[in-house]
Amino acid sequence: MTTRDTIANGLSRRDLLKLTAAAAVMLASRNAIAADFHRFQHGTFDITVVSDGFLTLPAEILLPDATLEERQAIMPRLGGNAATAPVQANIPLIRHGEDLILIDTGSGSHFQASAGKLAANLKSLGIAPEAITKVVFTHAHPDHSGATTTIDGKVLYPNAQYFVSEAEWAFWTDKDYATHMPSALHDFARGAQRDLFAVKDRLTLVRPDQEIIPGMRIQQTRGHTPGHVSIELAGDGGLLITGDACTNDVIFFENPAWHFGFDTEPEVALRTRQMLLDRAATDKLKMLGYHWSYPGVGYAERKDASYRFVSA
Ligand SMILES: [Zn+2]
Repeated sequence: MTTRDTIANGLSRRDLLKLTAAAAVMLASRNAIAADFHRFQHGTFDITVVSDGFLTLPAEILLPDATLEERQAIMPRLGGNAATAPVQANIPLIRHGEDLILIDTGSGSHFQASAGKLAANLKSLGIAPEAITKVVFTHAHPDHSGATTTIDGKVLYPNAQYFVSEAEWAFWTDKDYATHMPSALHDFARGAQRDLFAVKDRLTLVRPDQEIIPGMRIQQTRGHTPGHVSIELAGDGGLLITGDACTNDVIFFENPAWHFGFDTEPEVALRTRQMLLDRAATDKLKMLGYHWSYPGVGYAERKDASYRFVSA
């Protein structure tokens, strides 16, 4: 399967934006941002999972490989209906020494209106945008890097140093993207360029295995995008902040052979996800998933030939 096939079969960003306000309102009550924030210690890291809100995704994107019966069984378990389901956006705020680090910035005003709540939630925790010292991107999709700038083009976290993988930068900043990428990716490319170019003068390009600070290491988890990375924190057997290497805690734990409709390199993403879940189950690795049920912290437990998500 090629990138073009998958994207062509999927919905564009515009289609997603068009999802009805009524559906969003209906889901909002069920998916209200957790009033109390999930906070825990991992090794020397103090972590608070702050919600950016939620996104509504269509079944064609969430579980394209499922049969109709499987869809009907799974979609309600995600809190959705037959056509769409909500997915959370969990952003770890990591305190370490003098650092206050965000892994991804969320959607800001550049994606669905049910997301983009991170800055407001940080404020309710007493954290001003100026206090953030580092932002590490797992990848440059609009629901992860969209809040780099405010709606009037200002950098939202003015004192932060930014980190993105070399491969992610190279993929999205291709000046000939219009001819090199299928048209369904053009909106994403324009969004990634908007976000990455806005912080170009304070952006560090990183490679897999590189450390951001002692104990915080970049891990290659390519496939969702060509430069997608996860972030691993040392201590207590490790904590892997997975980003979108595994986009749902029900669908892909229980069906690790299924594709996700927004993976740019579907087969690479599939292998990455399978290796990740296998390692996580074998090593009892703690994980934090961006789109998993809030707060998205837990483990993969083997169940026959698949897995079960076990909340930490
Ligand atoms: Zn995402």
